Amino acid sequence: METREYIERENRYGAHNYHPLPVVLERGEGIFVWDVEGRRYFDFLAAYSAVNQGHCHPKIVKALTDQAGKLALTSRAFYNNTLGEWEELMSRQFGYDKMLPMNSGAEADETALKLTRKWGYKVKGIPQNEARIVVCNGNFHGRTITIVSMSSDPDSYSDYGPFTPGFVNIPYNDIEALEKELMNPNTAGFLVEPIQAEAGVYVPEHGYLNKAAALCKKYNVLLIADEVQTGLCRTGKMLACDHEEVRPDILVLGKAISGGMFPVSCVLADDQIMLTIKPGEHGSTYGGNPIAAKVAVAAMEVLLDEKLAENATRMGQLFRDEMKSFKSPLIAEVRGKGLLNAIQINSADGKRAWDLCLKMKENGILAKPTHEHTIRFTPPLIITETQMREAIVLIQQSMTEFF
Ligand code: PLP
Repeated sequence: METREYIERENRYGAHNYHPLPVVLERGEGIFVWDVEGRRYFDFLAAYSAVNQGHCHPKIVKALTDQAGKLALTSRAFYNNTLGEWEELMSRQFGYDKMLPMNSGAEADETALKLTRKWGYKVKGIPQNEARIVVCNGNFHGRTITIVSMSSDPDSYSDYGPFTPGFVNIPYNDIEALEKELMNPNTAGFLVEPIQAEAGVYVPEHGYLNKAAALCKKYNVLLIADEVQTGLCRTGKMLACDHEEVRPDILVLGKAISGGMFPVSCVLADDQIMLTIKPGEHGSTYGGNPIAAKVAVAAMEVLLDEKLAENATRMGQLFRDEMKSFKSPLIAEVRGKGLLNAIQINSADGKRAWDLCLKMKENGILAKPTHEHTIRFTPPLIITETQMREAIVLIQQSMTEFF
């Protein structure tokens, strides 16, 4: 079968809830993927930052295959001999008392919201059903009904009402607006992305997180950091919060926690928060399964052993420097941190960013617009300087050929 036939079959039998670039991939290794016709591409999306460690990292593949042949799923009705090792590693690495495992980023965010409400009622003493959680305009935390209830993006929430109450939206990067909402004694939490990635890689002012953390402390409100996309070395530190030495009360992780090998996510918090949820009050059949645990341990070891945060800092700087000094009428702005970068495209209509992605695809670079005028550039963090320079030439060449 060739590309066109694969696409036709998906379009015929699959739901149309995505709009993929017309390329059909069948193999991946490191920073590269290959399509069904054997063409090689630089993967500059890395599955929305899930593949930070590179495609099919041998150490993570081995963890998966070894465990898959031994014991895959027990449910949490019983203990297994793998989960504790992962929980201990994560608790020690990130400095929290406990970890709660889930599968997708959205589920981990839902878990964080539940913990926040429980803590609000049981510890802070908020009257039943009055808890409020402050969120930011432009947020992206996933796709569940509750999560889209706090979205400001009509594509995410339209026609999905009635919505879950209890959320208060404020502008991102606005400390005054935040303080006003934190003062309300029924506010239990502030949920924030340290960089708004899906919205188009919006980096708040340096100091925003620090001030937000201080205010949360002052008003006895939990700071919940959604680091599903920004975490795990993507921005040049293990966590994006580390750039401001901020320790959230609840930390939400997903995506690269498994190196793109398996759906794994988790929430970390201290006992005073985590132990408000009692046996039977929350869970997931697959959450914390033995394959996930082994894969996640291997994926974390790769991030640390291969010093991927340091590489993300160096390669990200190189990318931004080269793209900022490149003169193209297409580039309105280059922004980002570490290897979480975006280029804002000058465009009268919404098609230019999409068309540029098609042009880059022809030249062997895969990237995808986020919203109409922004293209995210987020390769696996294992990219070498030679590879990055080669990719930059191809991206610039695509911009030159565009007209
Ligand atoms: N939170 C953030 C910050 C994300 O970027 C995403 C996905 O892009 C999610 C949550 C949802 O993760 P998942 O797609 O695994 O549910």
